[in-house]
Amino acid sequence: MKLTIIGFWGGYPKQNAASSGYLLEHEGFQLLIDCGSGVLAKLQNIIQPEDLDAVLISHYHPDYIADIGVLQHARLIQGFLGKEFPALPLYGHQFDESEFGKLTYKKITKGIAYNLNEVLTVGPFQVSFLKTDHPVPCYAMRIEAGGKVLVYTADSSFKDEFIEFSRNADVLLCECNFYGHQNGKSAGHMNSIDAGKFAHRAAVKQLILTHLPHYGNLSDLIAEASREFTGIIKLADEFQSISL
Ligand SMILES: [Zn+2]
Repeated sequence: MKLTIIGFWGGYPKQNAASSGYLLEHEGFQLLIDCGSGVLAKLQNIIQPEDLDAVLISHYHPDYIADIGVLQHARLIQGFLGKEFPALPLYGHQFDESEFGKLTYKKITKGIAYNLNEVLTVGPFQVSFLKTDHPVPCYAMRIEAGGKVLVYTADSSFKDEFIEFSRNADVLLCECNFYGHQNGKSAGHMNSIDAGKFAHRAAVKQLILTHLPHYGNLSDLIAEASREFTGIIKLADEFQSISL
């Protein structure tokens, strides 16, 4: 699997940047995970919107779905220009009927509800889900392909169920919206200490901190997490690519 970070800012995109969006490629299948504000513009540095094969959506906060509408427009317009491609499957949960309904657009995109109790097959990927602790329904994902495992927390405060869900993952892409001295629990987010403890307890190989705060010194997040976890820790960065 090849993971490429498209956007990583929490809440809203920094200038000329993007909020949550992650491209995962395996055996030529291009899966976009979340599609927040700024993602469509940034994505085109890597691949064109009409070349996506599927999109997985963790939850319906704007920093995760703001660019779904323009992704639909992009594929509509490229279709007018003569390109041919099938309806794009957009996988999301159905616990917000209004937002889930927007995932289906003409014959351009098709909303598909994922079943939380079953492993979802998307192209070469096997995806299982865990409900997170967040103000709205949100789902973490454990994605397996080629014998490797990526766990993506989406938005959540820490919960014990994460440990078994993430056990021995090759990469833990973990939200980290707060510094170690801050408590993100009431907002439904983790801090750097939570992320470090989580990575240690789940014995993951590599921790990538994402959904980053807009203030402070981001390198402090790594220093704080590294007190708890001695493995590899990185800050998410635009177009950063990780092979696993
Ligand atoms: Zn959220």
